[in-house]
Amino acid sequence: MKITIIGAGIGGLTTAIALKQKGFDVEIFEATSEFKKAGAGINLALNAMQVYKRLGVYEEIVEAGSYTSSMNITDEKLNPLSAIDLRPFEKKHNVKSVAIHRATLHQILLSKLSGVSIHLNKKVKTVTQSKNGIEIEFEDGTNHQAEILIGADGIHSVVRKSIFNNTKLRTAKQACWRGITKTHLSKKYQTGLNELWGKGKRFGFVAIADDTYYWYALVTYKKDYKEEFKNINLSKLYLDFHPLVNQTITSTPKENILANEMADLKPIATWHNKNVCLLGDSAHATTPNLGQGACQAIEGALVLANCLAKHKVIENTENAFQEFQNIRIEKTTKVVNTSWRIGKMAHLENRFSILLRNFILRTAPKKIVIKQTAHIFEIDN
Ligand SMILES: Cc1cc2nc3c(=O)[nH]c(=O)nc-3n(C[C@H](O)[C@H](O)[C@H](O)COP(=O)(O)OP(=O)(O)OC[C@H]3O[C@@H](n4cnc5c(N)ncnc54)[C@H](O)[C@@H]3O)c2cc1C
Repeated sequence: MKITIIGAGIGGLTTAIALKQKGFDVEIFEATSEFKKAGAGINLALNAMQVYKRLGVYEEIVEAGSYTSSMNITDEKLNPLSAIDLRPFEKKHNVKSVAIHRATLHQILLSKLSGVSIHLNKKVKTVTQSKNGIEIEFEDGTNHQAEILIGADGIHSVVRKSIFNNTKLRTAKQACWRGITKTHLSKKYQTGLNELWGKGKRFGFVAIADDTYYWYALVTYKKDYKEEFKNINLSKLYLDFHPLVNQTITSTPKENILANEMADLKPIATWHNKNVCLLGDSAHATTPNLGQGACQAIEGALVLANCLAKHKVIENTENAFQEFQNIRIEKTTKVVNTSWRIGKMAHLENRFSILLRNFILRTAPKKIVIKQTAHIFEIDN
């Protein structure tokens, strides 16, 4: 019996690796016609890296990415507000956190899937379930019959829409630009994930290689970010920030800057229906404020493969999916809701509220911050 995965993103590929290692036969259908070298990085936190260690991909990712030893929030002039030292957590879990080019991560994951059929240019239109199995209809007019289906097709998941009709995306009213640049910054920025919080906007950057930085800029908008930021001069918008921000933005070729709006999926109570189950963003898309969207998909991949193996998939697929959901849903819901709140806090506009927020961040007891962070790094399986 084959397990069919829709979507060859980080979640879909990691699931395929985990299932393959458990001895399952896997196939993947992906909408894009080729894997492009998207101009963005990603931070893989200690929970994701524990999973990759178990899957035997850890060393390669560490080698190809850049080590991150702290997460720092500052004001717009780079004055520290809050810092989390990741080294005690590294010691506990025996892994390191890494920031890496998304395309590099993709290539590493793909290289572990020899023998797995990955069908590109196969955009799913609908999924229907009947007593004869699962019918997948593609946009190109072709069909495919599946026995067990994992929907890893992202926040706008067609699989999710096909099996549940009342899910809701929430827009955070924040536009986001992302880029990768080669520029020389002070050595002290080489191992930190740094986020500068200003008034209604923020800027983050992290090294993904020597003198190569992945950065992101988020700004609040009112109604339509495409219209409101039609003629945006991003570096001008950040003139009130530390000059390093300007240096980073202006050193990035404009055509390599990606623009999106931030959204999440309002937490849903059920991820599966008969022999179809959602994984990653399709089940629990989050705003990126905790840097945990992909990490949660990666954690889910391992748990799902373990549940399917434990329940001897053929007889007990629904039980396996139910156990997967039971194990994972509390943590992903917490991540989604906490991230949503942090996003609002990071974009305060009122001067007094900003002063108060910054004061709280500067003086928050370290014990509390460490406790909240520790929970995220514990993996569920
Ligand atoms: C600005 C930003 C920064 C982020 N930073 C981080 C970070 O630092 N760390 C972190 O852990 N997470 C981060 N995330 C979140 C992370 O990118 C996502 O959570 C992660 O990519 C989800 O993986 P996925 O495989 O579930 O979905 P996706 O990455 O969305 O992959 C879905 C795949 O399915 C395919 N697909 C879609 N529709 C169809 C269809 N109809 N038929 C067939 N295929 C289809 C897509 O082409 C894609 O390949 C960030 C997100 C944003 C927006």
